[in-house]
Amino acid sequence: LLNDWQNVDITRIIEDKFKLPVVLTNTSMAKIRAIDRIEIKGAVENIIFIEYGDGIGCGLKLAGNYVPGSSSISGELGHMRVTDEQIICRCGKVGCLEAVSALPALESKAKAIIREETETLLNGQSEISGICIFEAAAKGDRLCTHIVEEAFEYLARAIANLINVINPEIIVLESLISKVGENAYSHLLRAIEKNTLSTHWQSLEVKFSGIEQYLGPLGGASTILDLCIERSL
Ligand SMILES: [Zn+2]
Repeated sequence: LLNDWQNVDITRIIEDKFKLPVVLTNTSMAKIRAIDRIEIKGAVENIIFIEYGDGIGCGLKLAGNYVPGSSSISGELGHMRVTDEQIICRCGKVGCLEAVSALPALESKAKAIIREETETLLNGQSEISGICIFEAAAKGDRLCTHIVEEAFEYLARAIANLINVINPEIIVLESLISKVGENAYSHLLRAIEKNTLSTHWQSLEVKFSGIEQYLGPLGGASTILDLCIERSL
């Protein structure tokens, strides 16, 4: 995604500037550490965290271990191909989950279909954003509910695929998803269940993260704490 940043030693540049050790990780990996440490308190061995916002990602804890991947860039759930529609993703490929389900995708969809006469709470708003669409759906706006539910169908398939492969005890969704309201959230849960093996669904807990703010920075702090503890052992 940062095509001009190939082979840039970013940790060295920041270390030189601040004269402190620097660790590089991605946001979904950092966030799952905060959720595991603060909310789940390390009590569960297999967790999937779904990061949702301008992009979509996931953090994985399997058999008690976080999964950063060989280059610390695992969890790019947003670039799982979920449709044959020729919608170009910001990664340059087509049909990615992020391109049809993340907040900017909702915004694009709404802007493409709303006309002056369309009955929606978005009409008359000076700016339409993905968050506005979530909030309008939560208030029962039919158009916004339709846009969100369509996007959640793709999200649900991707999450179900992960569940079927990994068989986690818990799926934790980024708290932002709770802003969409009860109806669209129920739709998401039903769509996940529909695409998940019943054996995997029965033993699964799906919940929102209760951490509404600073999950990323808390994840960064958790990452550093974990590394300090690992290195002191
Ligand atoms: Zn992509």
